[in-house]
Amino acid sequence: MSVHDHVIIIGGSIGGMMTAACLSKYFKRITIIESDDVLNETLHKSTPDQIFDYHCRLANTTSIGRSGVGQIYQIHVLHSEGFNILHDLFPSLKDKLLNEYNIRLYSLKNDGKFVINGNLLKQNLIKDIEWLGIDRFTLEIAMRNELCLQFGNQIEWICNARVVELIADQSAYVAHGAKYRLKDSSSSSLDIYGDFIIDCTGHKTSSTKWLKESLNLIVPIVQMHFGCVYVTFVDERFKTGDSSLDSKPVYFPNANVPDNNTGCYISQVRTIKSTDENSLGILSTIAVNCVNAEYSPNDSYENLLDWVKEHLDRDFYVILKSTKLCSPLVPHRQAIDDRKYVESLGGAMCAFNPQIGQVMTHACRHARELRKVFDEHQHPLKDISYIFNQRASKINEECWLASTTNDWKTPTLKVIKTDTNGNIQIYQQTGDMNSIQYPRPKIPFIIKFLQWHNYWFLRCTSKSEKLSAEFLLVVNQNCGLFILMKPITFFQVCKTTLIHYLRLSRY
Ligand SMILES: Cc1cc2nc3c(=O)[nH]c(=O)nc-3n(C[C@H](O)[C@H](O)[C@H](O)COP(=O)(O)OP(=O)(O)OC[C@H]3O[C@@H](n4cnc5c(N)ncnc54)[C@H](O)[C@@H]3O)c2cc1C
Repeated sequence: MSVHDHVIIIGGSIGGMMTAACLSKYFKRITIIESDDVLNETLHKSTPDQIFDYHCRLANTTSIGRSGVGQIYQIHVLHSEGFNILHDLFPSLKDKLLNEYNIRLYSLKNDGKFVINGNLLKQNLIKDIEWLGIDRFTLEIAMRNELCLQFGNQIEWICNARVVELIADQSAYVAHGAKYRLKDSSSSSLDIYGDFIIDCTGHKTSSTKWLKESLNLIVPIVQMHFGCVYVTFVDERFKTGDSSLDSKPVYFPNANVPDNNTGCYISQVRTIKSTDENSLGILSTIAVNCVNAEYSPNDSYENLLDWVKEHLDRDFYVILKSTKLCSPLVPHRQAIDDRKYVESLGGAMCAFNPQIGQVMTHACRHARELRKVFDEHQHPLKDISYIFNQRASKINEECWLASTTNDWKTPTLKVIKTDTNGNIQIYQQTGDMNSIQYPRPKIPFIIKFLQWHNYWFLRCTSKSEKLSAEFLLVVNQNCGLFILMKPITFFQVCKTTLIHYLRLSRY
């Protein structure tokens, strides 16, 4: 096995930590440069209860030095494929999470309720899928503790340090290192050199800027702004009087834009002991979200409840009415789809509509793919980023289609494209009379097909355990999108459409 000397990973969040664990076999030294002070005493040494308490009490990510991940208090689910990868890398983490952090592992077959586009997925799935009920804040801290425990002597963290530039050899198109600045120092930047540099700085990455400045490479980019807004909070659940609603995680995503621009999600994240006989002994993260720049209130719980009553499914309102708020209402207003087409350059970067909840798993899959390239033992180090980017682009394409199919329907959608020469084109579905009018975007054929297919496929799921299970396997990234288009399924989807249009059934 060829072991290289030094890899530099920029960004020490979910993607950075997974990548470090995946590459531990192939590099003697791993340096993670992270702009936040993630190893500070509060984050690194607190007990699981204290960690959750911080989550609940703080609305402001900067107050405990975690400003680099603005979405850290928003609702997060880790898809089952992401969890499998996590479990492979950190085998003892699951037990610790369940026993020390009191988080929940729940079965989608027995515990979940998915209503998508008005269709309740069949619950008696032919295959069960497990979900990890954990908040993003706790997951990240628990992973970091485990990473330090398992690979502590190999990994050096440089925290409170922001990478500002790559050190590159323009003639060879290779980056040899990075320049970084310590946040609490006024001194000039420091240099660090490695054999392999990986960017894991998330959706706000500066890689495109660095590649342009250091190597004169322009990365084509497509951004889709669909007016996505989240409000997340933590609550204690109480009995509603309807046992079918109690204890269940609930998902009502806004799958049918523009008829339905709102969604709601309940994910159970902790079990607690309570003396109140009406308490379900569960803490959940709850989120409401809107697209098309429609906003739910976040100034008070009463106003939010009124809004929920008017805009969301009655079940969700019933649940929310019988909960106790345990945290501030935390808004998030910047979610977009963003794809950087770096396949031919050296990086693989995307940000997706959070509604699909796929990004952490996407990052885990990328890390696993990179390890597979190393596992093949036949590629010179200089070729690995190119090979990886080709393969990662397939993962990106799948997730991109899943995320954007629906977003293309948003009436106020704005698409911003940067081409290989750096020229920017803006398109907009509709514009109000006072704003600049941009040309309408051309919806790709594959997207039109998927919009049609998904709509009718979801109508079929409410009658089929098999299709419901397949749909959830795709959502969880255990299977690729195209299993939903097997000939027999496609036939069923066409039949349902035809029956509807010929008005042969109410269905
Ligand atoms: C509202 C919302 C809900 C979401 N829900 C889900 C969900 O349910 N499931 C899911 O899987 N995903 C979800 N996501 C996406 C998820 O939060 C992240 O995108 C995911 O954590 C990606 O992790 P990452 O490690 O790639 O990047 P990030 O978590 O963004 O981390 C990047 C890290 O890099 C550091 N950094 C940045 N720039 C520099 C620099 N120049 N130098 C050094 N360090 C730097 C930052 O401090 C940070 O620690 C959601 C996102 C949002 C906005």
